[in-house]
Amino acid sequence: MANVVRTRIAPSPTGDPHVGTAYVALFNYAWAKKNGGQFILRIEDTDRERSNRTSERMIFESLRWLGLSWDEGPDVGGPFGPYRQSERFAIYRDHAEQLVARGAAYPCFCTRERLEGLREEQRRQKVAHALGYDGHCRALAPAEAARRRAAGEPHVIRLAMPREGETAVADLLRGEIRIDNRLVDDQVLLKSDGFPTYHLANVVDDHLMGITHVIRAEEWISSLPKHAQLYRAFGWEEPVFCHLPLLRNADKSKISKRKNPVSLNFYRRAGYLPEAMLNYLALMGWAISADREEFSLPEFIASFEIEDITLGGPVFDVEKLTWMNGKYIRALAVPDLLAKLRADILSDDHLTRVLALAHERVEKLEDFVEYARFFFVGEIEYDAEARVKLVGKKRTAAETAEALSRLLEERLDPLLDWEAARLEAEMRAFAEAAGWKSGDLFMPVRIAVTGKAATPPLFETMEVLGRELCRRRLRRAVETLRSMNADPGRGPAPEGV
Ligand code: GLU
Repeated sequence: MANVVRTRIAPSPTGDPHVGTAYVALFNYAWAKKNGGQFILRIEDTDRERSNRTSERMIFESLRWLGLSWDEGPDVGGPFGPYRQSERFAIYRDHAEQLVARGAAYPCFCTRERLEGLREEQRRQKVAHALGYDGHCRALAPAEAARRRAAGEPHVIRLAMPREGETAVADLLRGEIRIDNRLVDDQVLLKSDGFPTYHLANVVDDHLMGITHVIRAEEWISSLPKHAQLYRAFGWEEPVFCHLPLLRNADKSKISKRKNPVSLNFYRRAGYLPEAMLNYLALMGWAISADREEFSLPEFIASFEIEDITLGGPVFDVEKLTWMNGKYIRALAVPDLLAKLRADILSDDHLTRVLALAHERVEKLEDFVEYARFFFVGEIEYDAEARVKLVGKKRTAAETAEALSRLLEERLDPLLDWEAARLEAEMRAFAEAAGWKSGDLFMPVRIAVTGKAATPPLFETMEVLGRELCRRRLRRAVETLRSMNADPGRGPAPEGV
């Protein structure tokens, strides 16, 4: 296996599938394919509270949509046991025990109170770097520690980091990175409930799965000394580490959903072509030549060299992506474009669901197009009546904006199973908690997602419109409400009140 390139993407399934995941997956995929190697998908679901299967399924679907198929993974299997970390806990425990047996890790019985007190004390003394854990239990005699474990005393397992010197570790793009070991505390490997931490599970799996190149986002560089020390504690050879530059908003901050849509579902629903998305993402870290921006995935794979990844702060610019997408759309032959529409918004499946809601209101066939328009377009316009009703009854535009924004953030953004009954339950619960009459809240929502006051039943309509379109239109409505200088219900009100 030594010469085979094996790369992986290791997403945590805790929300919408992220453009950053696609970007990292693309570079891993390309490097594996370039070398005739394998690209592995591993689901890092050690955070049991936040991980869920809907999110995992959305990761599968969006990577498949992009054509970045994996050779081994939770759904296709592979020679290394399960590819979902929650199904590998025995392996992590076993590995933590191996380190304890060798004296490279130790049980720590410190209580939460003690650790909090320690932190408080460090803050009080203004220790230059928060040094974290003080190594209290590291001094316990192994026999004593074993006795307390056997007696069932709650504990975690920590890595015994070297206390002096530096950890030097190489990043392929950045060269050697050196960290003073006194700045890295004894990391927890296993939590008191026996669950592994990210560091342990990630390193153990990369090793056991034969990963040769760890290509991941820059934000993980700070974990690198911990990972390097784990490899050394196990006596394992380290893979090549390559940290890609982070995608950024136009203001150079880390890409975030406040400034850019970051869900792959958003782009997929809006009709960006996967080829254009891949091309654009490749440009975030690589260039085929100085004067050429358009290239296909096979061309990327053929010319890509991992050392040529550029480290600038790439700005993920939706306008530029859209411009590029337009070029790809225009390059399609009409039958191919038709096939794309028929596979998506004009599929029989989608049309059937829209018709089921619309046919009561249609008197002639041609009425359908106008009536059902809002099911097909991206942005909707509000007419004069809709603008008035977008503001909640007896509420200001600002109050309505606030309510819709909270509804999104608290209830709808986290709701992955976008079904009418769930939507109704969430929105009624929100109205009650926020002190709104449900009907008074539902009208602005209806206007926001359809642009009309009279529509088919709201929750069924929202289900058919889908999660992406509804959330996008609600965000637009919040912006519109915030920009309304005058409140039609109560006379002029200053902006943003
Ligand atoms: N589970 C981590 C993530 O969600 C993986 C980081 C890595 O690639 O090591 O990004």
